[in-house]
Amino acid sequence: MESFEDLGLSEDVLKTLKRKGYEEPTPIQVKTIPVILAGKKDVVGQAQTGTGKTAAFGLPIIELLQENVKHVQALVLTPTRELAIQVAEEVNSLKGKKRLSVVPIYGGQSIDMQLRSLKKGVDVVVGTPGRIIDHLNRRTLKLGAISYLVLDEADEMLNMGFIDEVKEIMESANPEKRTMLFSATMPTEIMRIAEKYMRAYEVLGVQKGALTVSQTDQIYFEVSLSDKFEALCRIIDMEAAFYGLVFCRTKIDAETVANHLIDRGYDADALHGDLSQSQREKILNKFKKRQINILVATDVAARGIDVHDLTHVINFALPQDPESYVHRIGRTGRAGKEGTAITFVTPEEYRKLQYIRKSAKTDIRRETLPKVKDVIRIKKQRIKSDLEEIMSSGLQDNYLEMSRELLSGNFPDEMLAALLQYAFHEELDEKSYTEIEDVKTVDTTGKTRLFVAKGKKDGLTPRKLVDFIKDKCNIREEKIKGVQVLEKFSFVALPFQEAEVLLNHFKKNKKGRWPLITRAKEGRKK
Ligand code: ADP
Ligand code: MG
Repeated sequence: MESFEDLGLSEDVLKTLKRKGYEEPTPIQVKTIPVILAGKKDVVGQAQTGTGKTAAFGLPIIELLQENVKHVQALVLTPTRELAIQVAEEVNSLKGKKRLSVVPIYGGQSIDMQLRSLKKGVDVVVGTPGRIIDHLNRRTLKLGAISYLVLDEADEMLNMGFIDEVKEIMESANPEKRTMLFSATMPTEIMRIAEKYMRAYEVLGVQKGALTVSQTDQIYFEVSLSDKFEALCRIIDMEAAFYGLVFCRTKIDAETVANHLIDRGYDADALHGDLSQSQREKILNKFKKRQINILVATDVAARGIDVHDLTHVINFALPQDPESYVHRIGRTGRAGKEGTAITFVTPEEYRKLQYIRKSAKTDIRRETLPKVKDVIRIKKQRIKSDLEEIMSSGLQDNYLEMSRELLSGNFPDEMLAALLQYAFHEELDEKSYTEIEDVKTVDTTGKTRLFVAKGKKDGLTPRKLVDFIKDKCNIREEKIKGVQVLEKFSFVALPFQEAEVLLNHFKKNKKGRWPLITRAKEGRKK
């Protein structure tokens, strides 16, 4: 296993990595860092989302940049403003003691603010293509002397229609620059760009699947059916930047949940099989651009959608089977950063959860839902820190003026309270949440009584039945209880999990015909 020390990084950067808690380089980092540091060839790097591509170019570029340079040294292009911010943050957090200034430049942010920081002198600009072109046209950004150009998430830039802008930027930048292109996938269009606009380059790729450092924290909440929606709202509200998929079982459920969310003021939409291709793409695009941060989907509709960097996957309803559970939750969690998978379980569904947990060989932890008090406390903290951030990033004159006007003749605390009410309405009011009823903790040690559609007349004996079950679900004999072989049918009691395995087995194998083993009708626990 390669370590960061083997890659040729400086002491200072190694220390920073240690502080950040990066223990070892990801496979793409192992490949690209030495090549970029060597300082010769351009690089095309391919690895799936969440594999640390930012540091794969960020670390060596930080090493190569000079301090006290009077012009922009590196430009990183990203498809979205969120990525621009994220990448700028990551690069900033990696630069250690080196005095480099890294700024995100993106559409939607005030141009004045950007002008100010550009004027102050910037070493690394991380920006979206459109806004970069704006600045180039205004001559407020000059790329004539840059040493490095990075195209980050190149396939996304292609998908989002930025390719002409990207080409334009590549052409207008210093012809002596080194170019690095990073992408999760490599469609031919991208390889063509590399071919045409890059100098001698090396392609460094990592096979899909070989590299998931991603982790998912798996939690379940016990909640009654009628409280699921309220529980969902609380979970979303607890999170500063919720970006998640909510899975429902049916189209109707997906629509209903999405509509309720929208009614409560969330940016949500539903994705299900009844949508036309173009509606589907529109919704997906909004989600990818984070115009909506909650997508409520059915399993079928979510199949094949290519978003991985989710903070949350929520199983509003339990998935059909362990495979779809694994598939659903695989969409959250990025290298190093934990994603969270949350499953709502009603008391009736508890056994099914146990079965999923067992078959998927995965650990799902029980937690209790956040209390309204806590949700509101967190929201208030967030508002406070947002306000502080706005203050430290510079206030606009006309707002300052208005603020003085508002305060003259009024008590500041009252005026501020009025402003908060105006801005947040009932959002910080405990009454805007409904109570969630505690559901009974479910018995995990119980048994399921099963009905077997064969009896003595079929030659079945207790011994044969026990052996059959032992064989089918890999269970110790002591756990098989209540064996009763009657003339035409039989009964047996198994622990929940094994019973689910067996029931599922017979459901699958006997299509159309009445299954050999079913749940016994009278009383489940005996
Ligand atoms: P990509 O661009 O490939 O989708 P990112 O660069 O956004 O991936 O990285 C995903 C996450 O992994 C980030 O939170 C980043 O901080 C973290 N990360 C990157 N490299 C490492 C590493 N070597 N060890 C642990 N975490 C890492
Ligand atoms: Mg990336």
